[in-house]
Amino acid sequence: MTSPPHSVQYPMLSEFDLIKRYFAQHSVTDPRIALGIGDDCALVNPTPGMQLAISTDMLVSGRHFFPDADAFMLGHKCLAVNLSDLAAMGAAPMAFTLALSLPEANPDWLEKFSQGLLALADAHQCSLIGGDTTKGPLNICITVFGELPPGSALRRDAAQVGDDIWVSGALGDARLALAGYWKEIHLEPAAHQQAAQRMHQPTPRIALGLALRGVANAALDISDGLIGDLGHILERSKVGASLQLDSLPAGLVLSQQALELRRKFTLAGGDDYELCFTAPVAHRAKVIAAGSASATPVTRVGCIEQAPGLRLLDDFGQPVQLQLSSFDHFSTP
Ligand code: ADP
Ligand code: MG
Repeated sequence: MTSPPHSVQYPMLSEFDLIKRYFAQHSVTDPRIALGIGDDCALVNPTPGMQLAISTDMLVSGRHFFPDADAFMLGHKCLAVNLSDLAAMGAAPMAFTLALSLPEANPDWLEKFSQGLLALADAHQCSLIGGDTTKGPLNICITVFGELPPGSALRRDAAQVGDDIWVSGALGDARLALAGYWKEIHLEPAAHQQAAQRMHQPTPRIALGLALRGVANAALDISDGLIGDLGHILERSKVGASLQLDSLPAGLVLSQQALELRRKFTLAGGDDYELCFTAPVAHRAKVIAAGSASATPVTRVGCIEQAPGLRLLDDFGQPVQLQLSSFDHFSTP
């Protein structure tokens, strides 16, 4: 693990050298970016007729990641969580800005952080077009810009009564890894490492989001736990839902744990960055095709209902009572 140590003196690196060396290293080839890093503003020509999708996510040291988090994986994660918001909207990534507050200019940390960040940016053709750099507590704030045809966004307020509820990939391994770090449970080192991979390097489901345009009604990405996030769709769409508890796809490591933990962490884990979406029953084959086309597993886990609230059902259709809460920064210590 590389951490930014506090007692070491690094060779003088001016703010401008730092930006040039670590963040302006890639020449932007996207014809939509008329001007990238280096001036007072970046200049962007969105594709004519397309709508911009814009989202910001901030990651705070000690809150969203451990202060000694591996810098490469942190670079990946802070862009991944932003790309995940574009995926949830069905938008294609275009560009992003990076506002960085750093305790000091540690070249080793900056090298790894920028590598992790820019490798994911390149993989999604998402250009770094500007930002801000300042000295202060470690804090990383990214704003991402994407494009989509007007009217095609997968909004939270568009779920319809009768829709199936689906989730992508698998849930709960990131929360399981955290439980391992916090010593809430014991995990074998290999299992812990495997789960931690999901926590440190989430996969933004961009290809699935794009394939779901015109197929899904509503969608969001699961960052604070499935029930809490699904609750946002229910509230915004003014509907209710039931979930088939034991059809929820558990992560590889979590699936080896006891039923109670599987239920808890798939329902209210957090840091999953999978998509939860609703689609008409008549679109089942199309959803499965979207999953195959994007090489992303999709699982049907419930349905949207008229009656408000969220009902959890076992395999026999019997209601299950669980005391669970989703993550909330202001109600969780
Ligand atoms: P200003 O003082 O006009 O805000 P800055 O001196 O902060 O400009 O930044 C100079 C240029 O470097 C700008 O184009 C800005 O967008 C870019 N920039 C600053 N920090 C970053 C960063 N962390 N990543 C990418 N670009 C950055
Ligand atoms: Mg500035």
